Amino acid sequence: MIKKKDGCLVVISGPSGAGKDTICAELLKRHKEMYLSISMTTRNIRGSEVNGKDYYFVSEEEFIKNINNNNFIEYAKVYDKYYGTPKSEVENRLKQGIDVLLVIDIQGALNIKKLYKNAIFIFIMPPDLTTLIKRLVKRNTSSKDAILERFKTDYKLINEYNKYNYVVVNDNIIDATNKVDAILLASKCSVDRIESLDLQTEEEIIHEILIS
Ligand code: 5GP
Repeated sequence: MIKKKDGCLVVISGPSGAGKDTICAELLKRHKEMYLSISMTTRNIRGSEVNGKDYYFVSEEEFIKNINNNNFIEYAKVYDKYYGTPKSEVENRLKQGIDVLLVIDIQGALNIKKLYKNAIFIFIMPPDLTTLIKRLVKRNTSSKDAILERFKTDYKLINEYNKYNYVVVNDNIIDATNKVDAILLASKCSVDRIESLDLQTEEEIIHEILIS
């Protein structure tokens, strides 16, 4: 009876180590049809990352070619490297009614806000910043200096939380994922997402009742 619009575009941001990727992985386990967009980046591949699964790792030259060919919905320079969201992969899925997750930084989120009026913006907040940094240093995938440098950028980002629709504090992955899931469920019922009610006319309904 109700005609729904395209799939939901869900934009997730938050500081490094806040648990964005783990929350998305949990969401994808629960919703097999959901799609996590794979960004393109010029940064180096890290640890166990796989090209084409975690990111499309490309040279700066190739990234700029993609910018010029208008292949991104948005792109930004984050921590001095390029990151961009491939356009066709996301738009095709949204058109098919598939929900799409984007894990991107605030510059990207603000650009998406201009283009997709019905997108949902969720900010993932760590419960305690000092513990977060200590954990990142211990994890040892980047140097202490690099982590502290990222933290400075992230700290500015945290103060921009009010540009998002929702803030989810991640002190427990399951609780945080449940909250994101509840936000998605509620957003799907929003009147903004209803294209038309596609109802029978009043006369048609009365006629059907009278002849039955
Ligand atoms: P990392 O290098 O740690 O994987 O990601 C660094 C930052 O870049 C994170 O804040 C991440 O959300 C952001 N990022 C990843 N992909 C994109 C993208 O396609 N566009 C934008 N604007 N940011 C992205």
